[in-house]
Amino acid sequence: MAASPASSARRRASFRRAVTASVSGGPTGTGCPGLPVLSVACNGCNLRCDFCQNWTISQMKAQTTPLPPVELVKLALKSRSFGVAYTYTEPLVWFEYLVQAGALVRESGLKNILVTNGVLNEAPLRELLPLIDAMNVDLKSMKESFYRDHCHSEGAEAAKRTIRLAAEACFVEVTNLIIPGLNDSDEDLRELTAFVADVNPSIPLHFSRYFPTYKMDIPATPVSTLVRAKEIAQERLQYVYLGNVRLEDDANTYCPDDGHLLVRRTGYRTEVVGIDGGCCSGCGRPADFLWCDD
Ligand code: SF4
Repeated sequence: MAASPASSARRRASFRRAVTASVSGGPTGTGCPGLPVLSVACNGCNLRCDFCQNWTISQMKAQTTPLPPVELVKLALKSRSFGVAYTYTEPLVWFEYLVQAGALVRESGLKNILVTNGVLNEAPLRELLPLIDAMNVDLKSMKESFYRDHCHSEGAEAAKRTIRLAAEACFVEVTNLIIPGLNDSDEDLRELTAFVADVNPSIPLHFSRYFPTYKMDIPATPVSTLVRAKEIAQERLQYVYLGNVRLEDDANTYCPDDGHLLVRRTGYRTEVVGIDGGCCSGCGRPADFLWCDD
């Protein structure tokens, strides 16, 4: 199912209510290292993934708190966030809120960060993109059959189109949740890597570890699968990360040219250690980050 401005007008009343709001490190991971961001979510999603980790707020009715766009901006400024992340559920289903809030956030000098499944039509995407500074798109599989069988909707082609168009307009990252037996073959991983590399090899790709939840009881992804995925993706991509797993160096960022450590990440702690004037302090290569102030 795709989101569109007209089709969601009847949901306008609920757009002013947020399920949750919190301040933490940026959800895009590498776009804005170490900076605090206000994260907000609304009830609902346009997909019904059997493996949804946030199913209690994406698939069920959840208690919400009123948060008109003007109050959202006040909250972000008060919490000294550099921007607002629309995340946890699917922000595209509150499209009108995104457009209204996104414009006010921009006017106040803050950034808009969208964490999304990317499943929407091209026209509303083009309307939204000028307001978005960074986007993390969850590409669940390259195959429509995966979306149909496990997310109960078409989605692969729309998500791919979103990544292609967003990469021309803002900072983009891609996340792929690896589920044993469903999207973890070498062929799956190479196909997804090739797609991202063809859009831009400097797009960060995050492979995330699956754990059984909601309607899916397949055992958790072996760590060895994630390591193999990273090795395959690094053949074509400059920034590959592993999520939901603790491995030495799995979250750090290194310069693709000289291997210099740029950003050290330990748990929730992020330190910018090797960027000087927006460039690698080792070789001077411009760092592929959205905001590098040092
Ligand atoms: S797209 Fe994300 S939030 Fe929506 S059901 Fe799937 S996993 Fe959950």
